[in-house]
Order: sequence, then structure tokens, then C-alpha cells
Amino acid sequence: MPEQLTPELLALRERCSAFAKEHMLPLADMASGAAAAKIRAAAKQAGLFSMTQPNGVAKDSGQLALCVARETLAAANPPELGAVFGPSPGVLGSVGEPLASTHLAPLLAGEKRGSFGFTEPDDAQPTAGVIDGDSLVINGQKSYVTGGADADFINALVRIEDHGPSMVVIDTDINGVILEKRFNSLDGSHHAAFRFDKVRVPISQVIGELGQGLPKALGQIGDVRLLFAAQACGYLIWVMDLLQTHLQSPDKSGAARGDKDVVRWHYANLRIKTFAARSMLYRTARLADAGENIVNEGMACKVFATECIGEAVDTAIQLVGGGALIDDHPLALLYKKVRAWRLAEGASDVLRLNIGRGILELGKGRL
Ligand SMILES: Cc1cc2nc3c(=O)[nH]c(=O)nc-3n(C[C@H](O)[C@H](O)[C@H](O)COP(=O)(O)OP(=O)(O)OC[C@H]3O[C@@H](n4cnc5c(N)ncnc54)[C@H](O)[C@@H]3O)c2cc1C
Repeated sequence: MPEQLTPELLALRERCSAFAKEHMLPLADMASGAAAAKIRAAAKQAGLFSMTQPNGVAKDSGQLALCVARETLAAANPPELGAVFGPSPGVLGSVGEPLASTHLAPLLAGEKRGSFGFTEPDDAQPTAGVIDGDSLVINGQKSYVTGGADADFINALVRIEDHGPSMVVIDTDINGVILEKRFNSLDGSHHAAFRFDKVRVPISQVIGELGQGLPKALGQIGDVRLLFAAQACGYLIWVMDLLQTHLQSPDKSGAARGDKDVVRWHYANLRIKTFAARSMLYRTARLADAGENIVNEGMACKVFATECIGEAVDTAIQLVGGGALIDDHPLALLYKKVRAWRLAEGASDVLRLNIGRGILELGKGRL
């Protein structure tokens, strides 16, 4: 539970809350790139930047610490939340040489940017690779690579002939890697679509064992899902605070807006869901830190928390009224931001099916 944190985690929560107030909220009107650079610098000083990196705080305190930090920062609804944390190793976490020197170290140092290529167009053959001597020749497409246009490499899922799905590091500046399209999504993030035309990479750029790509990719997505849930819980706290202030303020008649039963019902409903989302998150983070398998619980947290925040922002707009839909109203901005989370890192419907399969076919998953 969020209530039973160690003194260290309580101090981390305080630190994150103060950081958001001091270093992030005052930059709300600054251009995105400039604000992100300032926040990054301040986060390095404050020791938050390294939390997602090996030997950072996360190594000692794990998923719970990351959840506390992300939730607390998001609860302030600050600009450029993503700038606080440094690049994490992701699927490169346990690579040996040469990838450790050529890609992992520069990624962690901020000298190279990585991206993740999993999603493919519906009408294309799956991205496939054939081993040719000590090279892999890859053909295929990836349709939704976040940050891909600025990335130095893509960690891509490739079906390797005779071996199966594998994660392969594909540099974006080599022959045959074609950046087909750049696009933005409603939340403001930017993405790229790539085509691979006889791309030749050294076989040493396969991450881990040949054919072990799916568990690697899903492991990476699993960690990110819990962090999505933490972020969603933070924004839920922010929405609940906003609504509390709004509903305790008087309407035209002088009565508190929250005096109306139907308004109170909606607000209470959101509070119930927020309580449930946070309870799930903290329980799951603790299980993860205890070394338990949380694949199913992480999916459950992500589905529930991202659906809750979607409903909460939508309902809050309804209760606040038309003013909340003016372009720069924080609720209007948040509405745009959170919609993507029910698709990114696994569509809610697909995750539900996976949870069903987890228990019915594999006997995995807790209540
Ligand atoms: C902001 C954002 C960032 C993203 N970043 C990345 C990234 O960095 N790398 C990357 O690889 N991808 C990324 N994606 C893509 C994301 O992973 C996909 O959008 C998501 O997995 C859904 O796949 P899809 O878009 O192909 O839609 P589809 O797979 O066509 O799914 C659309 C809908 O069809 C239904 N459906 C689909 N499959 C099933 C099924 N098996 N069973 C039942 N129902 C089903 C569901 O209702 C689902 O919501 C990102 C997406 C967003 C919005």
C-alpha cells in the first residue's frame, strides 16, 4: 500500500514532490525542448535521472521506488515528465560484448538514442531475417517506432529463419534502413515508420539467444507497463485534487458544486477507482521487488489504471464544464495525453485476452 513505505521511500516521495514544484512546474510555459533540457540537468543533480539506469536508485529499491517516483511526479502534472529519467537499458539490459560497448554504454551515457520496433503494418509480411555467414539479412517493416526519426538504432523484433522471433539491434544509418514516414500522435509524441530492404547487420547484433526475442520484448514491455500504471495513478491523484477543489467551490447560487447528488456520485466513483488502481500498483510493485513473476499483474495494472485515468479526465471535463475544453486548459491537455495509453505498450483488449490465456492455459496470475 502507498501508506506503508519505508522511510527511504517516503523521503523519495518528498524529494520528487519538491522537485516537481521547484524544477518543473515553473517551466510550464517554456518551449518543450528548452524545458526538457533544464529538467534533465536538474534531475541529474537531484539523482533522479539515474534511477532508471543500472547502479541507480532503482537497483537498490526496485520497481516500488520507480513507481513512487513516477506517481509522485505525475501527481503534480508537470511539463516534460519524460525528461526526468535517463535512458534505461531496456532489452539491452543483459547484453555482452560487442553490444555492451557499441550500443548499451552510449545509450546510457546519452550519446546514442535507441527505439523499439515491435508493431508492424497489418498488410505486410512479418519482419524476417536470414542468416548469411556472420551476417543477418533483414526485410520487413515497423510502423510505429516512438522517437524513431531521431534514433541511432532500433531494437526490432525479427523472425529469423529456422530460429524464430529474435530481438536485433538495427542501426538507422545503414544501407537498406528506409525512414518512410514521421508522424505525431495526439499525446504530442513523435514516431516513425521504417522499411528494411535487405538490411545486413552482424549476427553479433542479435540480443541474447537466437529465437529468444519474444520473451525479451515482452519482458521489456512488462516493466514499462507497470510504469505506465504508476504514471496513470499520479495523474489520477492530480484529477482527484482538482475535482475536490472544484466541487468544494460555490456555483452561481452560492452552494458548493459538490452538493448535487449526481455530481457527488461521479466524483465518489472516480475515487473508488483511484483507490483500487493505486492499491493494485503498489501490491504489484512489491511482488516484482520480491522477485515474483508479475506479467499478468502488470498487464492488469496497466489496463485498469490507464482506463481509469481516461474515464477520470473525461468525467472531470464533464463536471467542470465547457471551460475545461479550452485548448490550453490542463484537463484538455491531459485528455490528449492519456488517450494513447490504452493502445501503447499493448491494447487493452489484447491485454485482457492475454490475462485470460495466462490463467486458463498457463495457470498464471493472481487475484
Ligand atoms: C503513443 C504510442 C506510442 C507507441 N510506441 C510504439 C513503439 O515505440 N514501438 C512499437 O512497436 N509500437 C508502438 N506503438 C504501437 C502500439 O504498440 C500499437 O498501437 C498497439 O499494440 C495496437 O496495435 P495496432 O495499432 O497495430 O492495432 P491493432 O493490433 O490492429 O489493434 C486495434 C484493435 O483491434 C483489436 N484487436 C487487435 N488484435 C486483437 C487480438 N489479438 N484479439 C482481440 N482483439 C484484437 C483490439 O480492439 C485493438 O484495440 C505505439 C502506439 C502509441 C499510440
